[in-house]
Amino acid sequence: MLVAIDGPVGAGKSTVARAVAAHLGFTYLDTGAMYRCVALAAIEDEAADLKRSASDLKIEFEGDRVMLDHSDATEAIRTPEVSQRASLVATDTTVREALVERQRLMTQRGDWVAEGRDIGTVVRPDAELKVFLTASDDERAERRAAQTGRSVAEELADLRERDERDRTREASPLRRADDAVEVDTTGVAFAQVVERIAALVADVQGRTA
Ligand code: C5P
Repeated sequence: MLVAIDGPVGAGKSTVARAVAAHLGFTYLDTGAMYRCVALAAIEDEAADLKRSASDLKIEFEGDRVMLDHSDATEAIRTPEVSQRASLVATDTTVREALVERQRLMTQRGDWVAEGRDIGTVVRPDAELKVFLTASDDERAERRAAQTGRSVAEELADLRERDERDRTREASPLRRADDAVEVDTTGVAFAQVVERIAALVADVQGRTA
């Protein structure tokens, strides 16, 4: 089974997807980390071929750690510079095609909670459950600021820029799949959001049993 969780920056996708996966015993896939790895490789070598990086870079998830060509890149891929660059490389069609292909292969077998911008629309439109996670701009900026230590104003400007790029790009723009359940997390405790999604999964499992 595959649970697709899409939504804009700071809606709580990573925290929620990770918790839902742990709760259900499914494997968690952070597709944003893959775009971030391609971005980091581009920053480290400006001459690097983006398409080749997307198809050939060795990206492995080991528990909570992200390994890039066998080195731990977990922290290095979370800097504001990499966030901005990731949203830029994500507009490149050849990068998207290569990463989408890898994500499809990875999630072919087994039970997954995959999180990103295009899981329910492009990567796996056949997902048994699609959730579109949202929250108000202010709350998303506050959450990001609590994680990064930057000001709320800086985070607000950053997330609006990245959202705009994600929503308006030509290649698989961020949008809610027609059959996705929209879950607004504004003012809602994460535990409640996780419970809500776990209940939606139980519904699907009940219907398909
Ligand atoms: O989710 P996260 O913020 O880590 O993703 C980094 C960037 O990668 C996003 O700003 C977005 O532009 C891009 N992305 C994407 N499609 C995905 C996951 C992430 O375009 N499935």
